[in-house]
Amino acid sequence: MTDRFLTAAVLAQLAVLAGLGVGVSVSAAGQARPPATPAPGSPVFEVYAVRYATSPGLAASMLVAGADPSRKIDIPFMIWVLKGPHGRNVLVDAGSYHGSVFERWKLTDVLKPSAAIGKVGLAPGDITDVIITHIHWDHVNGVDLFPSARVWMQREEFTHYIDDEGKPKDQAITPDDAAMLAKLRKGGRVVFVDGDAKEIMPGVTVYTGGKHTFASQYVAVRSAAGTIVLASDNVYLYENLEKHLPSGSTDDKEADLRVQERVLRLASSPRLIIPGHDPAVFERFPKPGDGVARIE
Ligand SMILES: [Zn+2]
Repeated sequence: MTDRFLTAAVLAQLAVLAGLGVGVSVSAAGQARPPATPAPGSPVFEVYAVRYATSPGLAASMLVAGADPSRKIDIPFMIWVLKGPHGRNVLVDAGSYHGSVFERWKLTDVLKPSAAIGKVGLAPGDITDVIITHIHWDHVNGVDLFPSARVWMQREEFTHYIDDEGKPKDQAITPDDAAMLAKLRKGGRVVFVDGDAKEIMPGVTVYTGGKHTFASQYVAVRSAAGTIVLASDNVYLYENLEKHLPSGSTDDKEADLRVQERVLRLASSPRLIIPGHDPAVFERFPKPGDGVARIE
């Protein structure tokens, strides 16, 4: 991508975002000011990353394009908890707890996601909403652990991967997870989101454009520290952002890089962008500890 194209692309995207009223503003000099998404005045959430397992020794080249494959990283598997006012408790992704893929990965430090949220004082029945960023097993398999939650996902993500009978249309989703989501949909628990930059509840906006899967989404949430972006697997590691390198396992490197440019504009500060699988989340936000990072 040339610099000239990059500038044009960024300006075009800013214009689109400004048109959508999602809080990106451009000053007279053409410099983007810090965005205020979601809208000022909306509720403020406490935001936590909660580790539910670790995958030891993943090759760095899977996570960062061009990285040395002999460099191994112990990556955390996480869910993210948004504690809002009036008993609204939102999960971003639901982790995994069973099934053949789960067994095959030989994870360590495993906690059932429904138990892991106990570390932030919540029980499964307290979860009012689950936002699914994408249909990979480590993000979606635990959805059925939360009996009262509404389940938010992109309509195109669902219809691309799951047929009318609840069978997978693509091997990116496991048969068990496809059947489970189809059942929840039949039961009226799934709320479809149609596209980009949707404030699905006050203080929480979802964005698409990362092609980690067909219609993966990521989440911006208002907190006392400003707008936090939970990038999920649209940004695997801080290293992707800091070196502006795409994921090592994407088919669309340009989409990956455009997401990076966009989350940098959406978050109130770069440190409030939380990648999907970086162990350093728990070092940069060491409190309260024991596998829980309060993003602040
Ligand atoms: Zn993942």
